[in-house]
Amino acid sequence: MGTYINQNLLNNLFYILTSMFVYYFIYDQRKWWKTNLHQQQWLLIICTAVPLLLCMKFPIYIAKDCVHDLRQIPFLIGTLYGGWFVGSVLLFILLAVRFFFYGFQPITVAVYFTMFIIAAWASPAFRRLNRTDKLFASMWLTLLLDILVTVIAVVFFDFQIIDSYIFDFILIPPLAMLFVVYIMETLKDAIVMRSKLVKVEKMEIVSQLAASISHEVRNPLTVVKGFIQLMRSQPISKEMQERYMHIALEEIDRAETIINDYLTFAKPTPKKAEPLIVEQELERVVHLLQPFARMNGVHLVGKCQPCSIIGNNEYFRQCFLNLLKNSIEATPAGGTVTVSCYTQGEHVVVTIADTGVGMTAEQISRFGEPYFSTKEKGTGLGAMVAVKLIETMKGTWHIESEVHKGTTITVTFPEARKAEPKLDSGSKFS
Ligand code: ADP
Ligand code: MG
Repeated sequence: MGTYINQNLLNNLFYILTSMFVYYFIYDQRKWWKTNLHQQQWLLIICTAVPLLLCMKFPIYIAKDCVHDLRQIPFLIGTLYGGWFVGSVLLFILLAVRFFFYGFQPITVAVYFTMFIIAAWASPAFRRLNRTDKLFASMWLTLLLDILVTVIAVVFFDFQIIDSYIFDFILIPPLAMLFVVYIMETLKDAIVMRSKLVKVEKMEIVSQLAASISHEVRNPLTVVKGFIQLMRSQPISKEMQERYMHIALEEIDRAETIINDYLTFAKPTPKKAEPLIVEQELERVVHLLQPFARMNGVHLVGKCQPCSIIGNNEYFRQCFLNLLKNSIEATPAGGTVTVSCYTQGEHVVVTIADTGVGMTAEQISRFGEPYFSTKEKGTGLGAMVAVKLIETMKGTWHIESEVHKGTTITVTFPEARKAEPKLDSGSKFS
């Protein structure tokens, strides 16, 4: 027995396992290559043909009319996972190489042709099985195929069974198959789970944003509802009716804008970059948040110098709305939040300084992380959205903070060159 349990057996296993790791490694890099079935099949062919060749080139044991190696494992793996097409390419390679290395043998053709037909026929059913069933199905199928082809060999080709044959051809392959399929399924699960996780995360952010949308949209809706009730309950002049209608429509527009703003995050819209007049946009945000600041007893001050960047105004507003809202929330009554912007070299700098509770080093490092919030009813999404939008507009951000003293957030964007908007305004932006 000692002669056929040897280093070569381990080498054979090593070729097969390594190829499977390579297969899933490349499969996992689908960002680099477009996944279509055809490419996947060729990847599988390559990753099973290589160990097939290596197993045949470095067999476990060569008997008089039989070469023992684990070639049937990559062959069966390829055929079971890939179906008729992959199987037939592998069969062709296997037979061609067998004859090239060791000469023509009709018995080899009969054995592997039988395996090919049955494995390819079983392939669709095999691929539908769940993980555990796949493991045992592959093991039993291999064992049955080995026994079947042995019977064929003995009956039709007068084949002599020796104990090394039983060991290397009938006992080892089903076990090896079990482990190889186990490893393959484990690798595949890891890849699939990871891609699902990303989706689950995205869904949760979107659903959390839905809560804030409804919150933000409630105010305009209340106003509109009030006007409609007013118009119904008492007779009013045509003129007043017009005015109410006008206000109601404006409020509806506002609600629409809010929803659109949030949707820019939930579903990235085509990014239209245009020259932005920073001080105007910031003043708008400050204006929007003035009631909120008053409610909290916070002075909200804007100190803006003229400057401009290239960006998207909806992104810009959304971003600073989130940042400013945090600053106001962090500041106790009587405190001040100051927004300023100025040009510095080739950059536009926007700072938001508050005299609030401040942040610890740990909080600063977690700023922008989804769900990180120190507030009882916080979503932990505002900063994340803001950071994402700053990056979209090619900006950078920096936080300086001292606990109980206050926080200053500095956002830096590349300045829009004076000539650029003019050049582009003729073609792209108007
Ligand atoms: P939320 O406002 O829902 O808590 P955010 O993502 O907007 O979530 O903010 C995350 C966390 O960052 C806040 O809970 C707060 O602890 C911290 N934070 C953000 N801005 C400031 C600030 N100006 N001062 C102090 N803490 C801040
Ligand atoms: Mg917030």
